[in-house]
Amino acid sequence: MRAAVISDVHANLVALEAVLAAIDAASVDELWCLGDTVGYGPRPNECCELVRARATTCLCGNHDLAVRGTIDLAEFSGDAGVAARWSRGVLADDALAWLCSLAPAGEAHGVALFHGSARDPVWEYVLSDEAAIATLVLTEEPLVLVGHSHVALEVALRRSTLEGGLAPAGTELELGEARWLLNPGSVGQPRDGDPRAAFLLLDLDAQTARFERVDYDVEQTQAQMREAELPESLVVRLSAGQ
Ligand code: ZN
Repeated sequence: MRAAVISDVHANLVALEAVLAAIDAASVDELWCLGDTVGYGPRPNECCELVRARATTCLCGNHDLAVRGTIDLAEFSGDAGVAARWSRGVLADDALAWLCSLAPAGEAHGVALFHGSARDPVWEYVLSDEAAIATLVLTEEPLVLVGHSHVALEVALRRSTLEGGLAPAGTELELGEARWLLNPGSVGQPRDGDPRAAFLLLDLDAQTARFERVDYDVEQTQAQMREAELPESLVVRLSAGQ
């Protein structure tokens, strides 16, 4: 069973299309999405439509919950709030209905899935050893996947030792013999210094994982954002991947 894992698309349709083309070329059996399909970016409806059509399992994230009205927009500060409010204003009824059907935690083929973490599936960023251990303690599955931080990450727990860290493009892992916590990184707004769109390839039979990055036309997404009058700080960060 081969699966591709995406997360944090954030309404960046150009990046999503580039990632889906790369995933098609990798011929996987399933596509899993760890949430935040909308928020920040300029094409929420098109991204909901594509992810809905393609993903066999999909979670919701904090931005999805804000845009669908489950979380008060007051929870979002500054430009994130501006973008969430804009997204809510343009969201089509069928995209809204689909977002309302999603949960922030799930499971697929014995793999635990969370948008944030096991401790707090909506809000917690797993970016420290303490947070990674907390999620591994609260779960039993050998493999746990999280999104939300927009940072590609690989952490292994062997007996009581935690190892790992950032997972740059091309990182390959032999799973098994340890418990793993992986974050595929973000499709639509990477924050680990690599502006290319991120995704993860899993082979559950061979017990391997590979972190992938694909180039996309960042300037096209930036032009769409400026046309929608989304905050300039959200536009420029895409160039740097920060
Ligand atoms: Zn996100």
